[in-house]
Amino acid sequence: MKNETGDAHYQKAAVAIEAARHITVVGHLNPDADAIGTALGLWWILKGLKKRVDVVFVSTPLPQVLSFLPGFGKIKHQIDPKSDLIIGVDCGSFDRLGIGRIEGSMLINIDHHRSNTFYGDINLVEPHFASASQTAFRLVGIAGWDVPKNGAVNFYTALVSDTGFFGYESVGPGVFDFAKTLLELGADAEWTARMLRENQPLSKLRLLPKVLETLTLYLGGRVAGLKVTLDMLKSSGASIGETEDMVNYARSLATVEVGFLIREEPDGGLKVSLRSKELVDVAQIAVKFGGGGHIRAAGFTVYGMEQDLLVDKLLKILQKEL
Ligand code: 5GP
Ligand code: MN
Repeated sequence: MKNETGDAHYQKAAVAIEAARHITVVGHLNPDADAIGTALGLWWILKGLKKRVDVVFVSTPLPQVLSFLPGFGKIKHQIDPKSDLIIGVDCGSFDRLGIGRIEGSMLINIDHHRSNTFYGDINLVEPHFASASQTAFRLVGIAGWDVPKNGAVNFYTALVSDTGFFGYESVGPGVFDFAKTLLELGADAEWTARMLRENQPLSKLRLLPKVLETLTLYLGGRVAGLKVTLDMLKSSGASIGETEDMVNYARSLATVEVGFLIREEPDGGLKVSLRSKELVDVAQIAVKFGGGGHIRAAGFTVYGMEQDLLVDKLLKILQKEL
């Protein structure tokens, strides 16, 4: 299966979607605002085609900070096996969707991860796009479908969140064109920023100092690491999703090129988030550990490995890159 990004390929996807009876849009495990915003944005748009459309995220609980997104309450956690078309969004590999294959159903892969494995029957993957919503919107534009206000609100949230409010390398003129169109369609920049940044649960602010306390510098201060333990989550009452952007504190130090955060998972795994500034391709590093992501933001999960050994392995690789 391969990726193609010509208009004809998008048209093929549009025809398949219009021919489907029961569509299920699925995003990745431990979803972020890009995954949920892109999935719900598509949900509002595809509902306009007058067919059955579900949005499924297998993970529970979902990040409640995103409950302001229109349609959030409609998200399901299990796929209906009667779906004849599945659309994976913001997801680099099939296993990260957390679903099994459904015999006879078609799979369309809408993404922007450079590590994408092209697991769909049709793959619409644009590694240069800043957000999966941008890929979805290209499809919507080529298909000529209407975008209701609630679709635009969801896509706009996906976009600002995956660009760090227009601050990442992925941001170019195309991103601002897309943002302008979404605002014209009814998205509200101030409201979205307030919902994303000033709507935090107390537990998250209680967790933050505990996490910052673990800050450790390596390789002459060019690498910084943070840890989140299950105990910290428990004592602050925070859920796993609330650690989402804390790795950015590690990268924010002046001397640091690579920041990482290691989080203990309830299933015994260690989830690692990697962030870099301008030299290191962290997606490549994450792939070595079975994960993936983007040049400046990537992640992976390991099982059965001691934390110290994991940090050693990571530093050995980073030493060569820096
Ligand atoms: P985060 O560190 O915020 O979880 O993820 C950063 C980026 O890496 C996101 O784009 C995310 O989708 C990707 N990523 C994180 N963990 C994994 C993983 O285990 N596998 C893959 N393929 N991508 C991941
Ligand atoms: Mn994304």
